[in-house]
Amino acid sequence: MEEYSGNAAHEAHSPTVQRSAIEHEEQFIAHNYHPLPVVVSRGDGAWVTDIEGRRYLDALSAYSALNFGHRHPDLVSAAVAQLGRLTLTSRAFHNDQLGPLGEELCALVGQDMMLPMNTGAEAVETALKLARLWGYRVKGVDDDSAEIIVAAGNFHGRTISVVSFSDDPTARDGFGPFTPGFVTVPYGDAAAIEAAITENTVAVLIEPIQGEAGVLIPPAGYLEDIRRITTANDVLFIADEVQSGLGRTGDTLETTRNGVTPDLVTLGKALGGGILPVSAVAGRKDVMSVVRPGEHGSTFGGNPLSSAVARAVVALLDSGIPQANARWLGAELHKELDALVGHGVVAFRQVGLWAGIDVDPELGTGREVCERLLRHGVLAKDTHGSTIRLAPPLTITDDELDYMCAALSAALTELA
Ligand SMILES: *Cc1c(COP(=O)(O)O)cnc(C)c1O
Repeated sequence: MEEYSGNAAHEAHSPTVQRSAIEHEEQFIAHNYHPLPVVVSRGDGAWVTDIEGRRYLDALSAYSALNFGHRHPDLVSAAVAQLGRLTLTSRAFHNDQLGPLGEELCALVGQDMMLPMNTGAEAVETALKLARLWGYRVKGVDDDSAEIIVAAGNFHGRTISVVSFSDDPTARDGFGPFTPGFVTVPYGDAAAIEAAITENTVAVLIEPIQGEAGVLIPPAGYLEDIRRITTANDVLFIADEVQSGLGRTGDTLETTRNGVTPDLVTLGKALGGGILPVSAVAGRKDVMSVVRPGEHGSTFGGNPLSSAVARAVVALLDSGIPQANARWLGAELHKELDALVGHGVVAFRQVGLWAGIDVDPELGTGREVCERLLRHGVLAKDTHGSTIRLAPPLTITDDELDYMCAALSAALTELA
């Protein structure tokens, strides 16, 4: 941050540079996103700089993939060191990073074995495949009749099977025919899960907190109830911690924070340290052991570069510091958001450094609030309607948190 040269960089570019960068994307990149009008060319810790030299606090953290900020020195040095040795072998051969990652990650999340992939959606697909295999090979469910229970409002990624059980029309409409075998129940209602279980149920797949839905936190006891119900019914509990995991909520996993150990847990986003895509399913040995050579795989999954970066991520979390920072600054965030209720904020949900904030719809859409925040030097993203999400890097300081909240307060005041 000390090396920031805002004014010099600002003079080096004209506003047309930014406009032309955006126009290039408009022309050559498919319009599957609607980004805020900012073109970023540099990142340092919690801050990014645009091509005209303006700085912004990154309060989105790439949907929690940047839990340790931009270019964390430990992560960059692990990546650079590994780039100088070996980047890819494919799983046709062993590499010297994957085994150690397996041991270290399993110790961190309290599981026995892991299966490496790249993206979060792939980790979810992998968990679903493992659950189906387990259902047929261990539980004894009839071929092709496995059922998996999911929650309304879920977000688990973008593949066809995963959007098959989404109830968000934008994510789903136009992509059929869909993969069968999924049953949807309301989120936060453990009794509904119990009622939906049949002899064909192999798993319950749940986000411990629904991030994309607006940081929806289920009632206390929900995860414990799911654990009890799934154990009693010989059904696997799959926790999708791609967004909630790895420090965001103030603990290593949101399930751990609730004293619950799922059978399978999916990890992604922050596991790649904001450097490259790394995901994994970690789980109980008897479940992970159902898959045999050749039945599932990924060319890049478990590559030595990804594994070296993920090992450095695990080491950061092993210190407990990012989690403690999320807890401590999360309490501050709670206080600051509380003060905004009635002043532009209708309600908010927050745990650790993660908040879903419902802005008074009279003031504008979530998008309009984010555009206003942009002018105040904070990058954030709306979710649904008038909800915005704040998820700054877990490495931010007290002052940076104040900056973020002051910008929100100023943006809301201007819109009022
Ligand atoms: C982001 C996300 C995914 C998908 O991850 P990708 O890397 O975008 O495929 C899956 N589950 C949850 C809970 C997520 O937040």
